[in-house]
Amino acid sequence: MNLILLGPPGAGKGTQAKVLSAKRGIPQLSTGDMLRAAVKAGSDVGKAAKAVMEAGKLVSDDIVIKIIEDRIAAADCARGFILDGFPRTLAQAAALDKMLTSKGRSLDAVIEMRVNDGELVGRISGRYTCSKCGAGYHDTNLKPKTAGVCDSCGSTDFVRRPDDNAATVTTRLMAYYRETSPLIGYYFCKGNLKSVDGMASIEDVGAAIEGILNKVS
Ligand code: ADP
Ligand code: ADP
Ligand code: ZN
Repeated sequence: MNLILLGPPGAGKGTQAKVLSAKRGIPQLSTGDMLRAAVKAGSDVGKAAKAVMEAGKLVSDDIVIKIIEDRIAAADCARGFILDGFPRTLAQAAALDKMLTSKGRSLDAVIEMRVNDGELVGRISGRYTCSKCGAGYHDTNLKPKTAGVCDSCGSTDFVRRPDDNAATVTTRLMAYYRETSPLIGYYFCKGNLKSVDGMASIEDVGAAIEGILNKVS
C-alpha cells in the first residue's frame, strides 16, 4: 500500500498517518519530521533547512527529493509507505512518479484532507507533541487523559514547534495554496485522488480513510 496524505498544514495528516501506520504495519514518512531531526542533529541538510522552516517557507525540492528517495529504498518500505507532507510541489510529485516507476511501483491512493482555513489556524496554534515518543496532542481537541502526562509513554515532557505560531501560519498557508494545492489537480487527472472531510472528528476522518483504502486494496 503506497499512500499519500495530502492537505494544508494542520489538516490532520500526521495524526491519521500514525494511526494508519500502526494499523497496517507500514511506515509514516514525514519529511517535516525528518527535516526537524536533521536540524536537531546539526547535519548539512539541517543547517540548510533550519531558517527556511522557521520562516514557514518550503525547503528546496532537491533536498526533500533526495531524503525521500533514500527513505523509500529502505527495507521497511518494501510493503508500502504513508507519505505525510511529501510531495509538496509539482516538481516533487514528478520526481516521486519517476522514482516509483523506476522501481516498478505505483501509488494506490492520494487522500486529500479538506479543512477550512480558520480551523487550520486553530489546529496549528494548539498543537503540541510528546518530546519522548512523538505522540500528538491539542490544547482543546485532543488532551492527554491525565493532564500533563502522555497517554502513550507516560512522559511529562511536551514540545511545541517553533513554526507553529500565528505569524508563520499565514506564510505556510500561502506556500500551501501557491505550491502544493496544484497537486490536487495533478492527482485528480492521474485518477489517484480521493477526498475526505477533514473537519470531522479524528475518529470519523480515520473511518473515512479506512473506507477508501478497503476499496483500493
Ligand atoms: P498535519 O500533520 O496535517 O500538519 P496534525 O495531524 O499535526 O496535522 O494535526 C494538527 C493538530 O490538530 C494536532 O494538534 C491534532 O491533535 C489536531 N487534529 C488533528 N486532526 C483533528 C481533527 N479531525 N479534529 C480536531 N483536531 C484535530
Ligand atoms: P505541516 O504539515 O504542519 O505543514 P510539516 O512537518 O509537514 O508541517 O513541515 C514543516 C516544514 O518543513 C514546512 O513548513 C517546510 O518548511 C518543511 N517541509 C516539510 N516537508 C517538505 C517538503 N516536502 N518540501 C519542502 N519543504 C518541506
Ligand atoms: Zn509520549
